[in-house]
Amino acid sequence: MKKVMILSFAAALMATGCTSKSVTKTPGIDLSNLDTTVACGDDFYEYACGGWMKNNPLKPEYARYGSFDQLRENNQEQIRLLFEDLGKQKAEPGSVAQKIGDLYNMGLDSVRLNKEGAAPIADELKRIQSLSGKEAVSAMIGEMHRTMSAPFFAIYVDADAKNSSMNIAGWYQAGMNMGDRDYYVSDDESSRKIRDSYTNYIKTLFTLAGYSQEAAEQAAATVLKVETAIAKAAFTREELRDPQAGYNVMTVADLKKQYDGLDWDVYFKTVGLDSVQKINIGQPRTLKAVNDLLKTLSEQEMRDYLAFNCIDGAAPYLSDDFVNARFDFYSKTLSGKEQIEPRWKRALNVPNSLLSEAVGEMYVAKYFPPEAKERMVQLVANLQTALGQHIDSLEWMSAETKAKAHEKLNTFYVKIGYPDKWRDYSGLTIDPKESYYANVRRAAEFETLYSLKDEGKPVDKAKWYMSPQTVNAYYNPSSNEICFPAGILQPPFFNFDADDAVNYGAIGVVIGHEMTHGFDDQGRQYDKDGNLNDWWTPEDAEQFNQRAEILAKQYDNIIVLDTVHANGHFTLGENIADHGGLRIAYTAFRNSLNGVEPALIDGFTADQRFYLSYANLWAGNIRDAEILRLTKIDPHSLGRWRVNAALRNIDTFFKAFNIKEGDPMFLAPKDRVVIW
Ligand SMILES: [Zn+2]
Repeated sequence: MKKVMILSFAAALMATGCTSKSVTKTPGIDLSNLDTTVACGDDFYEYACGGWMKNNPLKPEYARYGSFDQLRENNQEQIRLLFEDLGKQKAEPGSVAQKIGDLYNMGLDSVRLNKEGAAPIADELKRIQSLSGKEAVSAMIGEMHRTMSAPFFAIYVDADAKNSSMNIAGWYQAGMNMGDRDYYVSDDESSRKIRDSYTNYIKTLFTLAGYSQEAAEQAAATVLKVETAIAKAAFTREELRDPQAGYNVMTVADLKKQYDGLDWDVYFKTVGLDSVQKINIGQPRTLKAVNDLLKTLSEQEMRDYLAFNCIDGAAPYLSDDFVNARFDFYSKTLSGKEQIEPRWKRALNVPNSLLSEAVGEMYVAKYFPPEAKERMVQLVANLQTALGQHIDSLEWMSAETKAKAHEKLNTFYVKIGYPDKWRDYSGLTIDPKESYYANVRRAAEFETLYSLKDEGKPVDKAKWYMSPQTVNAYYNPSSNEICFPAGILQPPFFNFDADDAVNYGAIGVVIGHEMTHGFDDQGRQYDKDGNLNDWWTPEDAEQFNQRAEILAKQYDNIIVLDTVHANGHFTLGENIADHGGLRIAYTAFRNSLNGVEPALIDGFTADQRFYLSYANLWAGNIRDAEILRLTKIDPHSLGRWRVNAALRNIDTFFKAFNIKEGDPMFLAPKDRVVIW
């Protein structure tokens, strides 16, 4: 629920990443990535990335595989080496090495996992199946939120959007395990089929957990009924992008009065928020529906719904029959994957996510060169200068708003590589005598409490919201902060051996992208201190919105598959950031040349290499099911459109490749949009 804007979408347990000190040189532009049989003016994405796509066919375990994933996979290999080294030493009990090593090994131990079957969740299920009364139900929901799952809703702690130096508790809609409300409410054939598969999946899980055929069928119907009721009231993806609509702070006393379906005192005490006095309700309409459900579900319905959340959350850490059932629905049906990831990758993702900073500390020590940080500091400063020039040159913005924009730009809080202070994991116990699930559950609880303990306290600006080994980057509006973990500071994003055109076209655009998030349709609503506070004159806001609307329409017109269109409003912030990132990085690159045009490399001009380098970041293959799923849930445009649609608004791109009227890539100057 931490609302940071990231560069690229990855599943929750997939975040891995980082840099190599190896001596092999990576070429700036790998010419084999190109497909020169395609004219660049016909389809630039195919021209720049067609070779890569042919050379890297989709592996069965992937729904999408691109240069991003290639780097993530490379990082998994590096982390695997770290973990295997840990396995060779006799780690001191209670040390971080012991915790990571034991957790990893438990995930690898298929013999034990398969022998234990559903036993690790038996006690918890028994407790759920005997729940009776509001107090007991409230305590159980609190316990589940504190550990492994999010039935009905989610609870979190984050900076108060209107008092950004203080943390506040937040209520956020959840409880829809398919991940998007459309899957529940859309009436098209594909959604109906997905609902049928989901019902079968729920039945399978209940059966594996020991329910009779008949009870499993009944329980599956209940789960779908509850989740559909939440989905019908839930905010849409577009509504969720409105930070003002998401800001509804109330006292806990009022919460108790208005939404009395839950015993909030019991709930807060169990979840770990004993002294909470006020809370932000992200989606009041959804809370009302949840409150109605809490008051009207029968005792058996409540037990079955909570039981499913327990089994579904535990399934990845149980025997293969659970793991495979989960894969069949979430990965095969929803994403089109053909094969489950190898066990070592699944096992590795667990400590890499639950002890992420401890893994990050080892990772950085082994793989991150300190020179990378120095070079990044300089690049970020150059990008800041370029964005300042762009603000000054905007014809549509008043001097008053420009001054405020400069203030915000000059107060960016920049994080590069890894945190200055590392997290302490000494309070976490990993004990291989207990089940894998019990250990994962305790580690998840450790994470929840780490985050909830900040409620009502000042915001710690030094805290990182991404681990150093992650191949990604983010902008956090409430702290006006941009962050570039060590994981992304390696080729193809950042390449010591390559010319500047290649680096500005890649990591330069990434930096510009994150900076632009501070000024996109959401980010612009926050001031330099991270408060939701309108600093725009109404006329300037109107001018901004007009331009943003043109961009949204351009993306609405894209057909991603068959008759399905991209969602220009849902992806607006990311598209503004791609567009701004490209423009700002290009200016920073030209500034860096001091008027001296670099020589051709491999027959390409520096400008051409800048845009080829950018396009190559998004090279990738993707399955049809994943195109449809990501179009629903991912606020980023698909790789193909992050290239072809973003570049169509850039004058210097057309010049660099001599793309002219009549070429399919061409967009008439009057139809191009400039925002930043
Ligand atoms: Zn972004």
